[in-house]
Amino acid sequence: MAKCPVCKNVVLKLSNLEDSLPVRQCRSCGGYWLRANDYARWLKSQTPGSFEEEKTKEASTRFPVAESNQTAICPDCGHFLRKYKISAKVDFHLDRCNNCNGVWLDKNEWEALKAGDLHDEINQIFTAPWQQNIQNKTITSKLDAMYLQRFGESDYQKIKEIRAWLQGNPNRNYLMAFLLDKDPFST
Ligand SMILES: [Zn+2]
Ligand SMILES: [Zn+2]
Repeated sequence: MAKCPVCKNVVLKLSNLEDSLPVRQCRSCGGYWLRANDYARWLKSQTPGSFEEEKTKEASTRFPVAESNQTAICPDCGHFLRKYKISAKVDFHLDRCNNCNGVWLDKNEWEALKAGDLHDEINQIFTAPWQQNIQNKTITSKLDAMYLQRFGESDYQKIKEIRAWLQGNPNRNYLMAFLLDKDPFST
């Protein structure tokens, strides 16, 4: 019998996550084990929308997701579950078994995914381009915060405007030289 990967000794009970979407639920922690075949079958009746990151973020703050940091094991095949970040702004992860492709959803994670319309395309999250995109965005926002702290809001705003103006300017190199020169009016 499949047991909860978080609570360890609690047996998962068959339940429904949505109409025609069977799931194994842990009555103790409120988590769900979603089997790949069940999800794939249900997906056929769905029309995927486009992911609205802010809505998922907002929902996961309103109904906090209880995530455990422990290493968890697949209830079906015993392989380790791997953690996948959902997006740069959303804090929680999905746990997935890369052997049988089952997904563990902690309490409120499905609801948060649904709020942002990502529940009907969660397989995207486990792809390399999706994960790479999150990494890039995370780096960008870290640098953005660093510049903001160093320059202050109004100087940072101004330098970004100047930068944008320089970049599209055919005289860019001369303008840069003018800026860098200690005294561009002496010959
Ligand atoms: Zn549990
Ligand atoms: Zn598995």
